[in-house]
Amino acid sequence: MRSAAVRWRLTMWYGAVLAAVLTGFGSVTFLVMRHQLVERTDAGLSEELSDVASEVRRAKDREGMLAWLDRRFGQHEGFDFQITSEAGECVFSNARLGEQRLPIPQLERGNNAPHYEEFSLPDGVRYRTVTHPVEGPDGVLIVQVARSLAEFNHELTELLAAFLIAGPAALALTIGGGYFLARRALAPVDRMTVEASTIDARAFHKRLEVVKRDDELGRLAGTLNHMLDRLEKSFDEMQRFTADASHELRTPITVIRTEAEVALAKPVSESEKQELLGNILEECQRLTWITDQLLTLCREDSGITENPREPVNLAELVGGVAETMRPLADAKGQRLAAAVNGSIVVQGDAVRLRHVVYNLVDNAIKYTPHRGTVKVSITTQDHNVRLVVEDTGIGIPPEHLPHVFERFYRVDKARSRSEGGAGLGLSIVQSIVFAHGGSIELASRPDQGTTFTVTFPTATAAAASVCASNGSGSRGSR
Ligand code: ADP
Repeated sequence: MRSAAVRWRLTMWYGAVLAAVLTGFGSVTFLVMRHQLVERTDAGLSEELSDVASEVRRAKDREGMLAWLDRRFGQHEGFDFQITSEAGECVFSNARLGEQRLPIPQLERGNNAPHYEEFSLPDGVRYRTVTHPVEGPDGVLIVQVARSLAEFNHELTELLAAFLIAGPAALALTIGGGYFLARRALAPVDRMTVEASTIDARAFHKRLEVVKRDDELGRLAGTLNHMLDRLEKSFDEMQRFTADASHELRTPITVIRTEAEVALAKPVSESEKQELLGNILEECQRLTWITDQLLTLCREDSGITENPREPVNLAELVGGVAETMRPLADAKGQRLAAAVNGSIVVQGDAVRLRHVVYNLVDNAIKYTPHRGTVKVSITTQDHNVRLVVEDTGIGIPPEHLPHVFERFYRVDKARSRSEGGAGLGLSIVQSIVFAHGGSIELASRPDQGTTFTVTFPTATAAAASVCASNGSGSRGSR
């Protein structure tokens, strides 16, 4: 329906523009033609006037003048002649004029130029005349030459008739042709509308047909298809995320229910009760922890987390985290080395940056066996701050490397869960790093160790880029 409206609107526009062009063109042609005919007539009138005037001037007496005039102009084919005295008495007129009199215009005194004008005689014929006072044998005479415009008007009427017939015919043809063309041009839009209406959650794989890749509609279909690709990907991710989240939450809930059922099914001793309640509490803690992580991820994704941009001394922050984690490393007999000297400042949110460092160091300790080494270092290089967390742990097999930043992705699900992980830590880390305009890289070899390198712009570089982008909120490189 909408494309039909566009179709009609386009056709009406063609029609209106062509009607305006035809009217303009017709009017100009008509006026030019008329002007040329008038000029031609005036040239004829002027020629005849000079002939008559020279006869009048040359004449010695009125009788001689009238005899000459009658001989030369009495039966003239194209023009009519009238000579009047100043008192208005008709001195001479040619035979065709007969009793009819040409009206004498009011001539300006002192203006000796011939006077041209148009008028209609009582017989309805339109005339063009030239009037000029000429010195005759016995005083001034008003000499007039006239030409009927009947032929002239006939030519113009024919021209007008041609315009009035050809114009509407051309207009009708153009409107018909325009409608046909608009229909053909917009047909793919109708097809795309029908195709698009069949795409829904159950048929997200369907795409719009691209007939001609390079024309406007082909590009539109291509762009819509790319948009559908992205939407499908997000939709799949969302579905997977929901399934993973439900699965992750179901495990502790099942454990809690089972423990509670056991406690209720039979009388239990005090020590058994303690153990059951302890298990329930532990699962509750895990539930709380997972929901907290999910909430953090949602906040990071939606961008509703406030992003205070304050100078943060990352070296000091990393040193603090290392000290906090040291007892954990000591408990596993690991060496935790922190190379963090001086003051290295980045622009950002101290709490979330601490989360990044904490998570990376926690993973390094978690996935490094007893007596391994975990090293944290921070350096600056070319307006960038590089935070490196490396360990001599179990490493990550190459086939898992592209996926470890995905939500709920765990290399070894059983082992990771026993360590308390839900596969959300690195997703959160990545989101926070991107929100700070940074990037994160990972290098790992199984049984040799893993290195995470996080790069942030320094405080000055970040401030400059914020000024340049005028607060456009860069999400960093991915
Ligand atoms: P989790 O909470 O399960 O540790 P993460 O998102 O933090 O989830 O990590 C995802 C997966 O990446 C982990 O399950 C683990 O297999 C792997 N991983 C992360 N850090 C390391 C590391 N330092 N050494 C080895 N494997 C790691």
